[in-house]
Amino acid sequence: MQFRDLKKQYDVLKEEIDAGINDVITNTSFISGRQVEELEKELAEYVGVKHCVTCANGTDALSMALMAWDLKEGECAFVPDFTFFASGETVAFEGATPVFVDVDQQTYNMDPVKLEEAILKVKKEGKLVPRVIVTVDLFGLPADYEAIRTIADKYGLKILEDGAQGFGGEINGKRACSFGDISTTSFFPAKPLGCYGDGGAIFTDDDEADAYLRSIRVHGKGSFKYDNVRIGWNSRLDTLQAAILLPKLHAFIKYERDAVNKAAARYTELLGDAVVTPVVGEKYISSWAQYCIQLKDEAERDALQAYLKEQGIPTMIYYPKPMHCQEAFAGMVFDEDEFQVSDRLCRTVLELPMHPYLEEEEISFIAQHILDFIKKNRA
Ligand SMILES: *Cc1c(COP(=O)(O)O)cnc(C)c1O
Repeated sequence: MQFRDLKKQYDVLKEEIDAGINDVITNTSFISGRQVEELEKELAEYVGVKHCVTCANGTDALSMALMAWDLKEGECAFVPDFTFFASGETVAFEGATPVFVDVDQQTYNMDPVKLEEAILKVKKEGKLVPRVIVTVDLFGLPADYEAIRTIADKYGLKILEDGAQGFGGEINGKRACSFGDISTTSFFPAKPLGCYGDGGAIFTDDDEADAYLRSIRVHGKGSFKYDNVRIGWNSRLDTLQAAILLPKLHAFIKYERDAVNKAAARYTELLGDAVVTPVVGEKYISSWAQYCIQLKDEAERDALQAYLKEQGIPTMIYYPKPMHCQEAFAGMVFDEDEFQVSDRLCRTVLELPMHPYLEEEEISFIAQHILDFIKKNRA
């Protein structure tokens, strides 16, 4: 059994993916081929924003968005404490300070009440200028944008939506990667929409940001590649990856997102009485980058993971360490009390196999072993 079965997906989409790869190789259009433009157009349309700028990976996407806003030393961005490292790393890379905010126990996303507390604290201390809120759509569920947008407007902050795991999620019919002033995603193979290597994209309705991002993605180009008007990067999406992503996007839209939602509902039905299962609000749709359960304590979580491994069931722990405990941020001072939820989640969460090609029997098999273990462990 695979945690995320990319081989099964390839078996299903093989014909189209192979044809796409062949086309790129035959035409030797390896860089900036027509598939890149085609993909950007389709992604922007699906997400419901004016511009999509693809790039080399989801981390570059975050960095380039922050560069577009000229985030710098002396300024800060608010980042959830429970997320993948890149959400805060990119803020620090720009020379600014990431201010970590605890998350909600049910949604795993940034807690808007704690966000406002953190903003007020920074303003009171008067050392850093608040500029950006980096929201993360963790595990496929969009953050609480209704509350966070209100707070962003109140304090004049920009929202950078880190939709690396969120692609395909929705609130009230509005799609993830359209909630930020700039939004980003990642096409790392294991993400909801993954390619066969590294890849990423940036989404915005802002024409000026779009023009800037297209420039810095290719060495700060002006009117053409050898006219350089600013210092930039080399962060393009390969044409090969775009050709692979096109049929994968079509499958995602046609049935994959529905399939993961069906799998998640089945897990919850089977496990809901024994462990804490994910809660998806009425107006929300998740793209289920992960299916996360919470156990009673760390000992139970670790023992369950070991037991499932013996049964041939792969699981993962996302994330074992909160951001404020990462050694890279060791120079910063934190009030340990502020991250109680995040600290607890790192000790109790466990992610189960989740992908669009997970079979009903596999879900039953996994759930039955979890139920057996819990019954014995808590007896
Ligand atoms: C994967 C991920 C990223 C980084 O994406 P890469 O394409 O691996 O650089 C950033 N933020 C979050 C929340 C992620 O899960």
